[in-house]
Amino acid sequence: MKKILLLSTGGTIASRTAGNGFVPAAEAEDLLCLIPELKDLCEVRYATLMNLDSSNIQPEEWADMASAVFRALSVCDGVVITHGTDTMAYSSAALAYMLQNLNKPVIFTGAQIPIEEPDTDGKRNLKDAFSAAVDGRLAGVYIVFDGSIISGICAKKVYSKNRHAFESINRKPVGEIVEGVVSLYDTSERLIDGPLTLNANFDSSVLLVKLTPGSSSAILDAAVSLGYKAVVIEAFGLGGIPNVRRNLLPSIRRLTAQKIPVVVTTQCVYDGCDLGIYHVGVSAVEAGVVSAGNMTTEAAVVKLMWILGETTNFDQIIERFCKGEHGL
Ligand code: ASP
Repeated sequence: MKKILLLSTGGTIASRTAGNGFVPAAEAEDLLCLIPELKDLCEVRYATLMNLDSSNIQPEEWADMASAVFRALSVCDGVVITHGTDTMAYSSAALAYMLQNLNKPVIFTGAQIPIEEPDTDGKRNLKDAFSAAVDGRLAGVYIVFDGSIISGICAKKVYSKNRHAFESINRKPVGEIVEGVVSLYDTSERLIDGPLTLNANFDSSVLLVKLTPGSSSAILDAAVSLGYKAVVIEAFGLGGIPNVRRNLLPSIRRLTAQKIPVVVTTQCVYDGCDLGIYHVGVSAVEAGVVSAGNMTTEAAVVKLMWILGETTNFDQIIERFCKGEHGL
């Protein structure tokens, strides 16, 4: 029988009402007690790593999760992590970057309704996550939610209440789970070229700027003095950045001249950036920005934090950011 570790970190799935809003309180053991049939699927180990609303999960917690997974995978066949949905896409991307050459499954899941409530989606999601973990064909970091299996670097929370909280952005979901049966659509194997490694250094000095019509360049000009070492601009459409009135390009040029990487993502949910189509994209490239292509904003921000944890050399940051498919 496969050995699967459940690491609980909090979120709605573990929440209870406390009179002043839901607070994560149930421990890993409490979650498991509600799904006794998991014992027929695998040998279940468990630990409560933290009990946080995911709004409070930050790079320090990503490092704790990745270290726990790294240790567990020397003895377990896979890990299921229960986590709040709000920042799950950031955490799944973070673990995907931190844990290189993963040859076992690390499955994030959670719920929109607490597992102890009668109409919860948590039981189904947790069961599905275990089914994915024992399946034997998945290696890497995934989110399993409402029957979808999504690569951890392509996920985005798209509903704040609906059970179908996550979608796979710019890549098909990896598969689906219906009544415990796992079907994979994407069976392409990722290249694993060495032993599992853990690099949990993150530098969170990444500024994310979402443009609006009328955005001033003041925030870009202040970035360096505020301590930021990289900037992500969530631009319009295919990656358009104003270059006439309230022209942001001089500020971008000043940032890149100071060796601060400026990455462009899009405010659109689907299809990513293409800076070569419109002049408002081409002129941004001329000013020194780098396109995040098909990456989500979540993955782009997390990847920059991860790279900055290892190097502050401008050319190396750009090279590593652009390397491979999401650099995995
Ligand atoms: N606020 C919760 C969290 O992210 C929402 C959820 O888990 O669905 O922790």
